[in-house]
Amino acid sequence: MNDMTMFRLACYSGALLVVITVFVYTVLQTRLDKPQNKLYIMIAGIIFCNSVSEIVCTISIIYAADSAAAFNVLLIAQNIYFIAHSLLAPTLGYYVIAVVGKSEKYTKLQYLLYAMPYILCELICLSNPVLHWVFTYDENVQFHRGFAETAIYISSAAYLLYSLVTLFVSWNAITSIRRRSLGFFFLLIFIGIIIQLFFVNIKCELFFESLALFGIMLTIENEDSRIDVDTGIYNRSAFKMDLNSYIAGKQHFCVLCIKITNLETIQRVTGSVNTDSYIKMIGNFLKTKVHVYNIYHVNPMTYAITFLGSSIPNSENIAYEILERFESPWKLNDTEIILNAAAELAEIPSVLSKTEELIYLADTPAPAAAENTLLKGKDLNYLLRRIAVEHAIHRGIEENNFEVFYQPTYCLDGLRIHGAEALIRLHDPDLGNVFPDEFIPAAEQMGMIDDLDEFVLAEVCRFIKSGVPSEKGMDSINVNLSVIQCMRPGFVNRVLEIVDSIGADKAMINFEITESVSASDYRILSSVVKSLKSSGFMFSMDDYGTGYSNMQAIFSIDFDIVKIDKSILWGAEKSEMGMIILANSVNMIKQMKRKILVEGVETKEQIDLLAGFGVDYLQGYYFSKPVPKDKFLEVISV
Ligand code: C2E
Ligand code: CA
Ligand code: CA
Repeated sequence: MNDMTMFRLACYSGALLVVITVFVYTVLQTRLDKPQNKLYIMIAGIIFCNSVSEIVCTISIIYAADSAAAFNVLLIAQNIYFIAHSLLAPTLGYYVIAVVGKSEKYTKLQYLLYAMPYILCELICLSNPVLHWVFTYDENVQFHRGFAETAIYISSAAYLLYSLVTLFVSWNAITSIRRRSLGFFFLLIFIGIIIQLFFVNIKCELFFESLALFGIMLTIENEDSRIDVDTGIYNRSAFKMDLNSYIAGKQHFCVLCIKITNLETIQRVTGSVNTDSYIKMIGNFLKTKVHVYNIYHVNPMTYAITFLGSSIPNSENIAYEILERFESPWKLNDTEIILNAAAELAEIPSVLSKTEELIYLADTPAPAAAENTLLKGKDLNYLLRRIAVEHAIHRGIEENNFEVFYQPTYCLDGLRIHGAEALIRLHDPDLGNVFPDEFIPAAEQMGMIDDLDEFVLAEVCRFIKSGVPSEKGMDSINVNLSVIQCMRPGFVNRVLEIVDSIGADKAMINFEITESVSASDYRILSSVVKSLKSSGFMFSMDDYGTGYSNMQAIFSIDFDIVKIDKSILWGAEKSEMGMIILANSVNMIKQMKRKILVEGVETKEQIDLLAGFGVDYLQGYYFSKPVPKDKFLEVISV
């Protein structure tokens, strides 16, 4: 073997080794299910075929002059080389189309047209043993180029050009990492071709191609940052990235959001570890309905599914099929659980047309009435109201549109004034009065509940500091706290800071928190309550009887008062069963030595009923609705 042969073999073996590495790592590490992944593997396969056939050619040519068998091997290998090589450029172009997210844009006819030059080249290559249009070897084993070889190169060049144009046209639809790696990919390929063109003996084209492919593996085909390790499903950033690319590419597509509406309950009942298993299980179910690469787990409660091209007409049926599955229980480790889901199907562009709006759709809890139904088209207008409410909250803080209303509470004994509950109100110039049931959940989700609760607390402190409440014989004023906020680090200090800076009597502040906390959070909550109580504040448990909490955990917290929810009182009037629930709740709380306040008292009959049970305090419309401070002072002065 002479030096030139050795050099060529080194180039081809290098290409072969790199491409085998690419192959092994792609199979080991990433997914093979997307069309894009399949094309990538196909390109690796083509370069593999080319490297092997070049190695065989380089070796067999040495012996071909003396051996008929070697000559035949040479011919076959050379032919395989051309057959595989013709496939490379069109596959590359197709790969670029897939990466820039345009696969669904083309019709079958367009694909057929696209493939025409390639099909022609392949036919010529396949008929070469007979027609010798591509190449021949003469009896001296001299290689002769046929006219069709030039045609094949021209067709390849056209495909490469087409890929480049596609890339540049879609420049805005792809992430910068994709731009850079595809740019580098083409640069390497062109350098390889140019070197080989001018220095015929330096057979480096294949080696450069396999190196370029290696770069693609590390970037575009590497999905580590796009896939959730626990569930094996695409994550939020993959969702954003793909939406950006569809929207920049002006694609028509649909997004189906599946929102699990009782996830919190599951967390409470089964613990958060099991919640992960449920998330995975739902993901596995969704995979039976659509391709895994169209499913995203956007936030703990929401899955999003994208529909493109020919799958769009089927999206509604699939949405209904998915909802149907949620009618029967899900089984995990022998426990069965019912998951509730709401489905929302958005067509883009329509009501929604931007990535942020679609993320907003995914992140906004579905309206309560949407459970087990499909919202689509105009139904999604609720999001517009929600956007307006969020806007009103922002503006409310800036422009002082919030106000604290007070609702008095009375001692059952003699119906004397006992105190008041502070309830926040929002008066928006555009929306009018917005009620807390609507804006509190929105504020919690926006992370702005602290501002609201601190506003109420400061307002109440100033009221107490004015001395009026104690003059009127009030023991305390109740302030609602969002449990989410209570558990944030630094919460206790923040409360002390506000109250101390105003100088209000802590013993007159009674904080209300609801029992809707997951079991694992009780420890934190319990320590917050303990430390605030040791500073002199009081605590009430709000909405008793509406949650699914662990009784033992709730009562391990040292509440001064338990507020029985209005639904329990109203239920007692409606049925015997309701009466039993009220009677036993009162009994149990009394035995635990907590005071009892009953909410929602609207009639004299209810007062008589509660007098029979011997509860401590009453609150409700019978006495007064929540009213502004001035009105409140009038109410309690009569
Ligand atoms: P909640 O803490 O259970 O407040 C009691 C709700 O019951 C109030 O509704 C009150 O107006 C209503 N209510 C009281 N008595 C009666 C009655 O006799 N009949 C009827 N039908 N309703 C009665 P509101 O003011 O709309 O507040 C709704 C919820 O918003 C509150 O429920 C509380 O969870 C939340 N909220 C209100 N203000 C604040 C606040 O400053 N911070 C926080 N974190 N949440 C607040
Ligand atoms: Ca309350
Ligand atoms: Ca309540």
